[in-house]
Amino acid sequence: MQDPPPSEFQFLPSVDKLLQAPQLSVVVGSFGRESVRAEIRTILDKLRKKILSGDETAGRQIREPGFFDNLCSQIQHCVADRFNSSLVSVFNLTGTVVHTNLGRASLPETAITAMVRAAQGPVNLEFDLETGKRGDRDTHLEQVICEITGAEAATVVNNNAAAVVLSLTSLAVNRNVLISRGELVEIGGSFRIPEVMGSAGSILKEVGTTNRTHLKDYENAIDSDTALIMKVHTSNYEIRGFTKSVEVDELAGLAGKHQLPLVVDLGSGTLIDLQQFGLPHEPTVQAALESGADLVTFSGDKLFGGPQAGIIVGKRELIDRLKRNPLKRALRVDKVTMAALLEVLFLYRSPKELPSRLPILRDLTRSVENIGETAEQLLPVLEQQLAGCATVSIEPCQSQIGSGALPLELLESTAVVIDPVASKGATDVVLHRIALAFRKLPKPVVGRIRDGRLIFDLRCLHDLPEFTRQLSELEL
Ligand SMILES: *Cc1c(COP(=O)(O)O)cnc(C)c1O
Repeated sequence: MQDPPPSEFQFLPSVDKLLQAPQLSVVVGSFGRESVRAEIRTILDKLRKKILSGDETAGRQIREPGFFDNLCSQIQHCVADRFNSSLVSVFNLTGTVVHTNLGRASLPETAITAMVRAAQGPVNLEFDLETGKRGDRDTHLEQVICEITGAEAATVVNNNAAAVVLSLTSLAVNRNVLISRGELVEIGGSFRIPEVMGSAGSILKEVGTTNRTHLKDYENAIDSDTALIMKVHTSNYEIRGFTKSVEVDELAGLAGKHQLPLVVDLGSGTLIDLQQFGLPHEPTVQAALESGADLVTFSGDKLFGGPQAGIIVGKRELIDRLKRNPLKRALRVDKVTMAALLEVLFLYRSPKELPSRLPILRDLTRSVENIGETAEQLLPVLEQQLAGCATVSIEPCQSQIGSGALPLELLESTAVVIDPVASKGATDVVLHRIALAFRKLPKPVVGRIRDGRLIFDLRCLHDLPEFTRQLSELEL
């Protein structure tokens, strides 16, 4: 015999009664009867379980007069939560400009317009309008990439990790790839060169030592099993002191002598001399090609400033081998990414204009005076909003470029710094409550916590009115 149901169950409304409740008519209208019914079932089930487990609060709530209304509003929130995208726009005030966790480069307007257009309907992605026959999706990008980089040929895949994997599986399956011990990097998010090589089916042959690798180390390692020489730009760290690495031109000479391809993973890679804008030097794709690299791979969404993609440039014969690899099909980019890449590439035809047209360069070249003006305007607003909770001040700070690009070079910037006001011992709690309140705003604000203070680096804050408008919703 089963126990009779607890007496509280009689206070639970039926699923149908809830579905017909006027309080829920709007959610039923927007999200459909079936999804609301499913949510109601889940919520009622949870309540029954709580009661069965002897949860007294639940038992009491059920008997209260406002119970039905509360239940309706709970259902409303749950349904809305489930249907609202969890992917939202945020303010990046972390001080890291190319922030991988926040989606890296922001795109220029022309690219966004092109993406929308490509998304809206059919495009001649793999269709030759001249002949009316099937075309090659790479042709659209290849011409422009080659025009700008001077490369013989080019192709594009999902990201730079994919570019490295495709290069290795096309040119070095079950064969040796020579790489300096000083370049066995981990990029973060589990991209580690030794593991990438393993997954691509290549055999890693380490050359030299962590701090010093000479040309003769490569030369001594070459044998009949060697498929290629690889050079990885050590983008997120720098070995200093007693160091020696072999530059692309020397490696190219050696690779050429032994008829081996030289593949360079530039990581971020850039197509222009960043020093002309007062930024630190970062190796360019063109320089790697001119120095004799046979293939160069780089990211679309790091310093290049475009959508997520991996761009591969170099010798026609090698690019053709990559394109014939069945894996290329699995790693290819879609029409929307392509549309954006093309527009960003067009901007590179007028390099001098880039800081005003390409968001990544606008952010990186923004003057500390200009950032300071934003800080001055923001200070009184934040002070008023946080009165009693925290003090706010303006301080110089340093931004990072991020994503491994130019890791040791910092850019002078300005921050507003939020110091929690609390009794000793409670400051951490208050600090985290303030930081959470900013992250819970309609457009969440992500800053950096350091030394018990919340720091907002304002380098990437451009729309101050948008930022201040929502501050009244801060729930401290
Ligand atoms: C960032 C980086 C990668 C990975 O590029 P994704 O575009 O993130 O896939 C690979 N190699 C180097 C040296 C990098 O800096």
